[in-house]
Amino acid sequence: MHISSHFDSGNIDVIDATNIKDIKLAIKKDNNSEFYQWFHFNVHNNEHTEHVFHITNAGQAAYVEGWQDYQAVASYDREHWFRVPTNFDGQNLTITFTPEFDSTYFAYFAPYSYDRHQSLIHNAQLSDACQLQLLGHTLDGRDISVLKVGQEAEGKPVIWLTARQHPGETMAEWFMEGFIERLLDIDDGVAVSLLNTAVFYLVPNMNPDGSVRGHLRTNAAGVNLNREWDNPTMENSPEVYLVREKMLATGVDMHLDIHGDEALPYNFVAGGEGIPSYDERLAKLENAFKDILLAITPEFQDDKGYEKDEPGKANLSLGSNWVGEQFNCLAYTLEMPFKDNILLPDTEMGWSDNRSRILGKDVLTAIYHLVDDLR
Ligand code: ZN
Repeated sequence: MHISSHFDSGNIDVIDATNIKDIKLAIKKDNNSEFYQWFHFNVHNNEHTEHVFHITNAGQAAYVEGWQDYQAVASYDREHWFRVPTNFDGQNLTITFTPEFDSTYFAYFAPYSYDRHQSLIHNAQLSDACQLQLLGHTLDGRDISVLKVGQEAEGKPVIWLTARQHPGETMAEWFMEGFIERLLDIDDGVAVSLLNTAVFYLVPNMNPDGSVRGHLRTNAAGVNLNREWDNPTMENSPEVYLVREKMLATGVDMHLDIHGDEALPYNFVAGGEGIPSYDERLAKLENAFKDILLAITPEFQDDKGYEKDEPGKANLSLGSNWVGEQFNCLAYTLEMPFKDNILLPDTEMGWSDNRSRILGKDVLTAIYHLVDDLR
């Protein structure tokens, strides 16, 4: 048996792989950080009998509640990811699996590779409506790219979407793939109409270094980008610094920051009720966005989510809070589950790459209904 993680977004340490019924593994920490939870590894074995994998340091991972009622994903072809029997005993995350083929990949969620990211943004630039802009480079030297879709004009709202500040939250980039695909579809009336009335800036991956390194939550320097927005630096967080500079140049009339949540088995949004400039207008816009999305898709709900910030107590180092305060605009963090949407459970797939993509398309419809009211 051979276990490997020497590939894009790979993460696992092999402690002991001598006994197929008691394979001991551990997740590596993000570089220069205490965070860990993302795993992604390959197992090659021509013995197609039951394998039992124990991730032995799961009990100290960043979000231990994330392992409760969680099922890992596996794939033979790296395209189709299905859930596999997984159990958490408070310390070990145990995956029990009998492979049908010699080589199997396992991951925390369907991975989204850097190569696929490059294909996504380069396919997008083939559209007449889309321009691929290079903002600068990460600490590891990767591109920080933004897609500009549509043409700026006087009075046209500027809508920003950012995703995957936390690189292990791959559902955020699957969401962006669906959103971009729909926005660039010239046969889609919602998209065509939106591009007549608004201009979009889209960052499908805010943290390519963390993504390739197999991190859960930080960039190459071990910095949590979603705690940098009030004071980013080129030394620690060029990803945020450069995107923020661009936002200051374009202005922002709406912002969605796309994430995944380890623990909660729901889709939900977290708003700006705690930012100093929060007022009735922003509250009305937030409620309108939620009501519209509730009407569009049963995948969204507004009963379960994070505790709301007290007035004036928001942490302005978070992306959507900083943007909401800086530009006095509708700014939401949107969270999808790692587990499943338990309001619409799918035992084979759980919450998936494809469901994330469809939610991205549905959010475009929500923006369409709201775009005239943003200012
Ligand atoms: Zn996140």
